Amino acid sequence: MVTTDGTDRYSRIDASGIRDLEERFLFATYSRYDLFISHGSGAYIFDLEGNRYLDMLGGIAVNSLGYNHPRIVRVLTEQGRNIIHCSNLFYHAFQGQLAERLCRVSGMARVFFTNSGTEAIEAALKIARAYGHIHGGPGKSRILTLRNSFHGRTYGALSITAQEKYQAPFRPLVPEVDVVQELTTDCLEAAFSDKVCAMVLEPIQGEGGIVPIPVPFLQAARELCNRHQTLLVFDEIQSGMGRTGKYFAFQHYGVEPDLLAIAKSIAAGYPLGAVLGHARVAESLKAGEHGTTFGGGPLACRLALEVMDIIEEEGLLRNVTDLGRHLAGGLRALAARHDDIGEVRGLGLMIGAELGGTTKEVVARLLRKGFIANAAHDTVLRLLPPFIIRREQVDEFLGALDVILSGMEDEAG
Ligand SMILES: *Cc1c(COP(=O)(O)O)cnc(C)c1O
Repeated sequence: MVTTDGTDRYSRIDASGIRDLEERFLFATYSRYDLFISHGSGAYIFDLEGNRYLDMLGGIAVNSLGYNHPRIVRVLTEQGRNIIHCSNLFYHAFQGQLAERLCRVSGMARVFFTNSGTEAIEAALKIARAYGHIHGGPGKSRILTLRNSFHGRTYGALSITAQEKYQAPFRPLVPEVDVVQELTTDCLEAAFSDKVCAMVLEPIQGEGGIVPIPVPFLQAARELCNRHQTLLVFDEIQSGMGRTGKYFAFQHYGVEPDLLAIAKSIAAGYPLGAVLGHARVAESLKAGEHGTTFGGGPLACRLALEVMDIIEEEGLLRNVTDLGRHLAGGLRALAARHDDIGEVRGLGLMIGAELGGTTKEVVARLLRKGFIANAAHDTVLRLLPPFIIRREQVDEFLGALDVILSGMEDEAG
């Protein structure tokens, strides 16, 4: 029996026991902070000693409703009792309802459900090649991506993740990928031809350091895709599902994709992803050409429906917009007083502040003071707090950051 009071036999382990087992039995893929999580509540998580941390990173853009939202806990429990999984051989109540709902808020026509963001990207790449072959013959298979992009770690997604540190150990990659090296329309035009079946981009690059793609560049990408019968694929795995104050970042820019990949916060922390597409695009996948065991299961879809109800009924997009402005404004005010802070970028509650070489030290000191953030692209303090965060909590964070930066300036003399 799982309990939250530490009497469950698997929960009785202490920090050194946890670390010891991981060091002996896990592939060493993660370098973890010295934080041993016990549980979460609202915008806070708690460690095994009962210390409280304000999660300004939202479990990397996943916990948009914070932790243990009562409505999510109720749906998890009740749906868990009914049925968790039933395979994609059969119908269940929630996949169609969720697909309809996602189409309504995105302007797309059809949905394929996956278990993760990476898999949504993989599905998009397969759809794009199938579409290209149908409309332009076997040679229409090249894929364009941007420098500093991040789309995931499996071979297709990795092959369009144009960052050396992720790709280097794993070559050869999937062929026929071209990287657009500069965010200029000249560079973009030079990369296009009738052989390009898809151009993939994050409207706001996340892992790349919270970098919004300039609107003229997005518009040029849309025009070039139209001219060359190329699918424009937006990866909104991090920026989507309300993170920017609208359901999708592209809705701020007036540039629409043909395919849209989403995941992260869609089911409140239960794994679920999706690729959405226009009707004309969706026709290129026939029965049996793609599939997954878990994707779109009853529990995941029921949770995602609840997430959308909560976002709409609790007016959370409004909170994202208001508190995003407050947080970015507060960071800019700090930047005026602290030389260490450079540019502050982002939209809604997807915010990055350039901190240069001090970023990692600032992140470590924030953690010691009870605030979780992270360093994206080494030099950018990345903030992705839950949508339910309150103004006082944002102010506490800004206050702590102010004290930390002042302390580091004093130490530097
Ligand atoms: C997190 C992320 C992915 C990968 O998603 P997973 O769920 O980790 O597979 C892909 N693209 C972007 C923009 C992301 O932020």
